[in-house]
Amino acid sequence: MNQKMMEQYAEFIVQVGVNVQKNQTLIINCPLDAAYFARACMKAALQVGARDVVIRYTDEKAERIRLELAEESVLCDVKPYVLRSYLDYAESEGGCCVLSISASDPEAYKGLDAGKINRVALARRQALQPWRSYTMNDRIQWCVAAIPTPAWAKKVFPELEAEQAEEKLWQTIFDVCRVTGGNPVQEWKEHIAKTTAYRDKLNQLNLESIRMQSANGTDLTVGLAEGHTWEGASSKAENGFTFVANVPTEEVFTAPHCLRVNGVVKGTKPYVYNGQPIENFSFTFKDGKVVEYSADKNQEVLGQMLDSDEGARRIGEVALVPASSPINRSGVLFFNTLYDENAACHIAFGAGYPTTVKGGSSMSSEQLLECGVNQSAIHEDMMVGAEDMTITGLTRDGQTVTIFENGEWALEV
Ligand code: ZN
Ligand code: ZN
Repeated sequence: MNQKMMEQYAEFIVQVGVNVQKNQTLIINCPLDAAYFARACMKAALQVGARDVVIRYTDEKAERIRLELAEESVLCDVKPYVLRSYLDYAESEGGCCVLSISASDPEAYKGLDAGKINRVALARRQALQPWRSYTMNDRIQWCVAAIPTPAWAKKVFPELEAEQAEEKLWQTIFDVCRVTGGNPVQEWKEHIAKTTAYRDKLNQLNLESIRMQSANGTDLTVGLAEGHTWEGASSKAENGFTFVANVPTEEVFTAPHCLRVNGVVKGTKPYVYNGQPIENFSFTFKDGKVVEYSADKNQEVLGQMLDSDEGARRIGEVALVPASSPINRSGVLFFNTLYDENAACHIAFGAGYPTTVKGGSSMSSEQLLECGVNQSAIHEDMMVGAEDMTITGLTRDGQTVTIFENGEWALEV
């Protein structure tokens, strides 16, 4: 890949994505194969005055062996030091921020017992809950960004040789992440300003519900949580510093009311769950809950996801993404939610973000649920936005507002 662009990508992720501050420790979660990129981020962070950078390597291939051969009870027994290894930094002077580098094989766990994988993943999430609350509540700056792996590149560009595929995926990432123009920091500032304007407009409208419709059969009315707020572009941490939680990001999103979602919604892009692609899915909602579902491929995996826990059949997020987003325009299916969710409007099964209701960060889960913010150990974004999608909003004083027309923003800002 182009070394200079890779470094600019790392700098932009550190400076705008995480927005690392002087005296903060940056924790980097990174797959072994991406070590060179973690080092580039480490350098970029220390150059802007980070106190320290701690890299935590993960190894998907080793994890596969463990998931296959070790006892489930052992895998679910997550030792306290794993949690402490994060909290020790979060609770120390200057605090921490965290960058998770995603570089995984979309089919890393193909052929393994999906139920076992799901239960192990849930146990890990539950054990790490006190740490997860730091990111879920925006208590600290956090960012997730991806780099290519040979397996991922081959999945995205199967017609190319491994090396060319990886090169092409790097170039596509540089393109859709606004690095190719040579000044990603500036381009992102402009993009964030535009998206913020739509977000603020939606907040002014004081909506009761939105209705999503498209010719493929989608007609879904999503009631919004009490005191919901639209978020997007950049977020603000408890310490007042802004950050971009997902690189790239094109969405403006909020909390649905988990009891007030009704109608039918069709998937428009495949969804990869625990390494397994679910295609052409469809859901029917009644009073917030999925009462019927289907998929052309891996329907049983979809069922396992929906049965994860009490809240897994309800949605915690609804997000608006224009069809003109660079990710959609690239025409590439990334088989990676971080990218694909920014190609299309989506809904997320499972937990809502406390930050999407007023005062939500300091509410208990019971209080959040009372506002309609869904609770679950999972959060799975699934793409439902179509090129011809119309979205209308119903305001609390009974007015109808057109938000999207033909897949594009129709609000005046
Ligand atoms: Zn989203
Ligand atoms: Zn989401």
